[in-house]
Amino acid sequence: MKAAYKADRGRGIEIRDLPVPEISEKEVLLKVKVAAICGTDIHLYEWSGWCENVKAKNPMIIGHEVCGEVVEVGSQVSKVKVGDLVAGETHIPCGNCMLCRTGKEHICKDLKILGVHTDGVFAEYVKIPEVCAWKLTEGTPPEIGAIYEPFTIAVHGVLKDKIGGCSTAIFGSGPIGLFAIGVASVCGADPLFAVDINDYRLDLAKKMADNVITLNPTRDDVVGIIKDRTNGYGVDVAIELSGSVKGTQDAFASLRKSSRICLVGLQAEDVTLNLVRDITYKEATVYGITGREMFDNWYTAEKLINSGRINIKPVLTHEFALDEVEKAILMAKEGKCGKPYIRVSK
Ligand SMILES: [Zn+2]
Ligand SMILES: [Zn+2]
Repeated sequence: MKAAYKADRGRGIEIRDLPVPEISEKEVLLKVKVAAICGTDIHLYEWSGWCENVKAKNPMIIGHEVCGEVVEVGSQVSKVKVGDLVAGETHIPCGNCMLCRTGKEHICKDLKILGVHTDGVFAEYVKIPEVCAWKLTEGTPPEIGAIYEPFTIAVHGVLKDKIGGCSTAIFGSGPIGLFAIGVASVCGADPLFAVDINDYRLDLAKKMADNVITLNPTRDDVVGIIKDRTNGYGVDVAIELSGSVKGTQDAFASLRKSSRICLVGLQAEDVTLNLVRDITYKEATVYGITGREMFDNWYTAEKLINSGRINIKPVLTHEFALDEVEKAILMAKEGKCGKPYIRVSK
């Protein structure tokens, strides 16, 4: 089969002909229909320090956001069958640790990530554990199936706590930020602010919600405008998805007293905050959010998407073929896009 292969720790990726994976009794073989590009794939492509920190596999096939058709199941698989269309959950939990046994599989003590610690989905076929196969509603377009995984991260952050009727600021309008804007709006957040330095992405933000107010910190006084539009209080909810130091500091500065903030973005550097001013005196609740809860957030995501009240398609801006994975990754890196995706098969 054809696959996008990371052969060594240098920069780059190559297309290779590799054997179709062989499944064990609790695994499922997928014929990949659509795979989407994520920030993680940029790290793997560049082989940044992050890859060594998380002990990423090398060499390997990269990619983790996937929708595919089940073409083979192991002898002990009971939840899906041949012919099912599934989305991939990319957390691979051990199933035995204390966290797994208390409903926290997504932060399993020995968590592995598809396409980081195991061979990934930028290939004609991929094998995944049964637990990672989320059966999609019949008729789901494969490109929508492929973005369930990042969409559920937005669901996790936005719906972690009260959102209906809450003034909300979402920092970062990358793909997950765009999803978060859609989820927040459809769940009743208002006024709703989207903050990013990238105008292309702020234009996409407007496609995700009618009521969104876009702010660009390169020309707008973000905190000042948010305070103005919330009667001087600041927002009830902030969702930090920019991963930038400034974005994170502005997110805290935008909070009113007795508010909540969800930290989802991954800052590469340490962030300086004044804890007394930014959290203690505000009685702010701070949530760390990583990945998605298995499977609460999946059920919610499915309900939202199937309701037809949220349209996540505008996030999918550019289609590529499997041979063009490198081009797609470089486009994602440049950022003049929503989420590029790979159409692997019909
Ligand atoms: Zn991802
Ligand atoms: Zn575990």
